Amino acid sequence: MEAIQRYELCEPCSLRQGFREARASDPRRCFICRGLTTRVDEIRSDILRGLKGYEFRTFSVGLSLPEGMQEREDQLRAEYKLKGRETIKAWLSRNLSERVARATRRRVDKLNPELAILVDLGASEVRLNARPVFIYGRYTKPAGIAQRKTFCASCRGSGCAVCGYSGYDETKASVESTIQKRLGPLLGSKKMKFTWIGTEDPESAVGPSGRPFVVEAKNPRKRRVPRGFVSRTGMGQMRVSGLKLLPSRPLKLPSFKFMTRVAIDSTSRISAEDLRSLSRLMRNVVVEFRRPGEKPAYKRVYRVKAKAAGRGGILAEIKLDGGLPVKRLVNGDSVSPSISEVLKADLKCRKFDILKVEVGRFQYG
Ligand SMILES: [Zn+2]
Ligand SMILES: [Zn+2]
Repeated sequence: MEAIQRYELCEPCSLRQGFREARASDPRRCFICRGLTTRVDEIRSDILRGLKGYEFRTFSVGLSLPEGMQEREDQLRAEYKLKGRETIKAWLSRNLSERVARATRRRVDKLNPELAILVDLGASEVRLNARPVFIYGRYTKPAGIAQRKTFCASCRGSGCAVCGYSGYDETKASVESTIQKRLGPLLGSKKMKFTWIGTEDPESAVGPSGRPFVVEAKNPRKRRVPRGFVSRTGMGQMRVSGLKLLPSRPLKLPSFKFMTRVAIDSTSRISAEDLRSLSRLMRNVVVEFRRPGEKPAYKRVYRVKAKAAGRGGILAEIKLDGGLPVKRLVNGDSVSPSISEVLKADLKCRKFDILKVEVGRFQYG
């Protein structure tokens, strides 16, 4: 054929165009690939070396070709009006995928692979991008531990010598840092993003049923988690349980209700009769929560069980919708009706503990 007379092509490059035979004695003289098709096994070995330590069931191979290669093939095809044939890029990625699949016994998934293998053939570089894992779990904690990491006091988060350029105060235990320290190495992930199903004060204890959270582990080498773990902190034990992988990124956070035990201070005396009427009046009521600059939110208080505790003190167990701040429900700041309002007293929440969190269903795309 005419094309073979004009261009030297290696065998795969020639067959791909529909020509019957190779025209280059040395594949390195191939007009299109300059010998790249003979290096497939070598590239496969580079990929396999990079894959060490990665856990995955599915993968894809993405390629970036050396400059000019696809253009040379396009030029040749335009000259000979060849259409609808496999490109050099598709050929390489198919051949590499097949070899990696055979060597690793893993499946190719081009749309949503657990591991995306990116081979830069110009720079001879293999980059790996693991799909993040989303982990659900629940934590309990003693009083005195913050939910989130606190920013470094010296730099306020921008990173400095004091905090080792992390931006965080690594000396203070938090739920976030404890989970990250445990799961990070297990998952081989350096970056984790937490989503909390509600929050509490550092001074709040979270009881045995735990508060739910979701953590996204980015670029994980491993994709399995233990069921849970216990961690000692200076303030007592923290427990993480019910860990499991979610099928994918949740679309939005589920709504939740929670049960809290609140220690309330009052400047005036509250009678037992007052507390009984509080239970009656705050049963299944919708309260308005005005957030500055936002539309008011309407949340439900399901029940309030209160008893006198010491001088001017009240101990209350309240079940309420997530997103309604306990302290404001007590003191009446931006919340109505509040417990202060119902009792016609000046109340302040001294401390609240989380007894139970009931979470709705997660939704996925
Ligand atoms: Zn070639
Ligand atoms: Zn710092």
